[in-house]
Amino acid sequence: MIWLLVVCLFATSLFSAACAVFSALKHSRNPMERPLRYVLISVSAAVAVNAVSILMPSARPAYFVYGLYCILMDIMVLALLHYAKAFTGEEELVRKARNVFMFAVGADALLMLINPFLKIVFRMGVYEDGFGEHFYHVASRGILYIYHILVIYAMMFVVNLALFKKIRSAPRLYKIKHGAILVAMCIIMIIHAIYLNFKLQFDYSLLFYSALALIMVFFTLLYVPHGLMDRLLFFTMSNMKDGIVCIDNEGRVVHANRTVKDYSEADIDIGSLDNQLQKWFTEDITQDCTERTWDTVRRIEGRDHYYHIDFMRIYDGDVKYLGCFFLVHDRTEEYVRYYTEKYRATHDMLTGIYNKEHFFERTKAMLDENPDIHYVIVCTDVKNFKLVNDVFGVEAGDRMLRKIAEITASFGGDDVVYGRLSGDRFAMCMPKYSFNEREILSKYSVVDSFLENASFKTHIHIGVYEVTDRSLRIPIMCDRASLAIKTIKDSYQNSVAYYDSEIRKHFMSEQKVISEFESAIANGQFQPYIQPQISVGGRVCGGEALVRWIHPHEGLIPPSKFIPIFEQTGLISRLDKLMWELACRQLSIWKMEGREESYLSVNISPKDFYMLDVCGTMTSLIEKYNIPPHCLHLEITESAVMDEPQQQLRLIGNLREAGFMVEIDDFGSGYSSLNMLKELDADVLKIDMGFLEKTDHPERSQTILKMIIGLAKSLEMEVITEGVETKEQAKFLAEYGCDLYQGYFFAKPMRVSEFENKYLNAQFIIR
Ligand code: C2E
Ligand code: MG
Ligand code: MG
Repeated sequence: MIWLLVVCLFATSLFSAACAVFSALKHSRNPMERPLRYVLISVSAAVAVNAVSILMPSARPAYFVYGLYCILMDIMVLALLHYAKAFTGEEELVRKARNVFMFAVGADALLMLINPFLKIVFRMGVYEDGFGEHFYHVASRGILYIYHILVIYAMMFVVNLALFKKIRSAPRLYKIKHGAILVAMCIIMIIHAIYLNFKLQFDYSLLFYSALALIMVFFTLLYVPHGLMDRLLFFTMSNMKDGIVCIDNEGRVVHANRTVKDYSEADIDIGSLDNQLQKWFTEDITQDCTERTWDTVRRIEGRDHYYHIDFMRIYDGDVKYLGCFFLVHDRTEEYVRYYTEKYRATHDMLTGIYNKEHFFERTKAMLDENPDIHYVIVCTDVKNFKLVNDVFGVEAGDRMLRKIAEITASFGGDDVVYGRLSGDRFAMCMPKYSFNEREILSKYSVVDSFLENASFKTHIHIGVYEVTDRSLRIPIMCDRASLAIKTIKDSYQNSVAYYDSEIRKHFMSEQKVISEFESAIANGQFQPYIQPQISVGGRVCGGEALVRWIHPHEGLIPPSKFIPIFEQTGLISRLDKLMWELACRQLSIWKMEGREESYLSVNISPKDFYMLDVCGTMTSLIEKYNIPPHCLHLEITESAVMDEPQQQLRLIGNLREAGFMVEIDDFGSGYSSLNMLKELDADVLKIDMGFLEKTDHPERSQTILKMIIGLAKSLEMEVITEGVETKEQAKFLAEYGCDLYQGYFFAKPMRVSEFENKYLNAQFIIR
């Protein structure tokens, strides 16, 4: 009989352990799995140890093992507390209780450990069964055993209280979940109480732990309350954003949520769900239709709403008709988002007309669809638009662009595509018969006075490309129209330019110049020519190094043919670096020949400031060639300084500090600002030859010249005048106080050897 009990106890222990393994393997992601596992393992251990204590061969180990069982019971109930906290969410209650019980359990464990020696908690006795076998059991219990029982019962009370509170607050559907566990625990506690009260030999309540383990695993990890799915589905359907109507096999509405009712009632013509269903069944769904989806638009409160409707009939396994449902999805937001995104991808946000990509796309489609119509591409460009933004602010610039877009759109029609290509560049593609130069000019001329500022004029330039070669890509056609604009870009008079073979030739020759640049550099085709500079005393101490391209086929090419192209492409800085290096090398040769005082002026393009560290390059060059910096004169054009005054002025300061002579080249050729002289701390002012050119008012030119020279002198700047072509000019310049001259009257730019032989250190007689 006792053996049967022992076997059952081991089976209970094994079953609990198996439950723990099952939970860990199958439900490891469930947050309840870990607390449950602790309970199951401690149950398994406690029951097994209890069984072992029965089988002990002598009293002393039986004391120890039974004491261990009592400690394991304490641990199991602690695990139950942990479990109850997670299972019921009664954190506060359980945490408080656990803190108190930790000490009580500690004391209990200590008592169990000393009991084998003092026997103050319980005494073990031998139970003899009818077959002469001996088994150990608790024969008598002292007052301290009651302490052990009280600790366990108190903890169980807290566990049950937490479960009870949860049952009270949980929805009805969930009450069984917690209730089942509570009932199982109470039954075990009652059996245990019977065991104690009736002083039974063995604790049979332990046998019920397998049932408890099973109930706990099931209700903690597996149980889904009956009807929960129905309710959840009902709730979801009632509250979902999409409308739903479920209809049974006799055509009665089983369920219809609020959304679908609203959808039906929103339409005055339909007005009710019944009418809606009638409409669907008569207009959209036929008898044999089992499944259908369609889109529809409803105008609700003055706004279009887009709906997607799904219909489906449902059949059982025997293909018997059960019912059907309609699902109404409101796709308005999606549609709006889609159309907004599409609009953004195809339109220019500032002006609302097509963007570049879409313009190209639409134009291509139009050309493909109408192979017999002759088209033109018209591009527009605003002269000085960058300045509009700078001077009048981005706001004004934007307003102007919107105005241009509006004018461009006014040419629109079924056979015209228009769009904004970039910045201030707009384009249209229209049939040639619709193109009217006068009309275009007159409409766009509004832009000229758009800023209502008398001293600042903008101007629209128009480039036209006649689509003669349809195999070209649209961007290339637009480039051609833009190339035509390039030819009139600097003019205020010409407003329309047509792309023709001349422009193409010009463009091709530009491309040729660019493509030959690399080999020209590599083969030393760029060479400095020097134009002497003569002091008032008539002496030549130096000159300006001016580049010449000695082309193997075309001979000597002047800078005007290639410098502007290199400036546009940025190649200029590489050419300039080469010129500076050649000039420095020449200066070092002169230095070695004892001509230390000779100097050379080199030109610095405005682009160099953006592409090079001018100061760093110059200083490393004079170090490399071991020449004094004052022998290298640096010519910076006025426009370079005007572009970004603060930055350029700082740079000029640095160059002067490093010892270079800084000259302001071409002063008076651009938008000269006398004010600039105030800020400009340069060594030399080089007056543009424009002042010497023949005019109707030579006296006025001379007065200005005289004044500028005077001004420069009073600012302690040296003055060079370039473009001196006659003796008279040289004379009056000397009178006004000009320090140096440069011009054809003295000499044209020449090869270095010629300059060295004929001019360097030569003496001119001027008067
Ligand atoms: P610039 O720096 O103002 O150079 C003076 C230009 O005026 C030179 O033209 C010179 O030949 C010309 N010139 C000198 N005296 C007279 C005269 O009495 N009458 C007339 N009609 N012209 C005279 P060039 O050599 O054709 O150079 C033109 C421009 O090209 C230069 O103007 C300069 O801006 C640029 N340039 C020349 N070489 C270089 C270079 O190595 N680098 C850079 N960045 N620009 C250069
Ligand atoms: Mg120059
Ligand atoms: Mg110049």
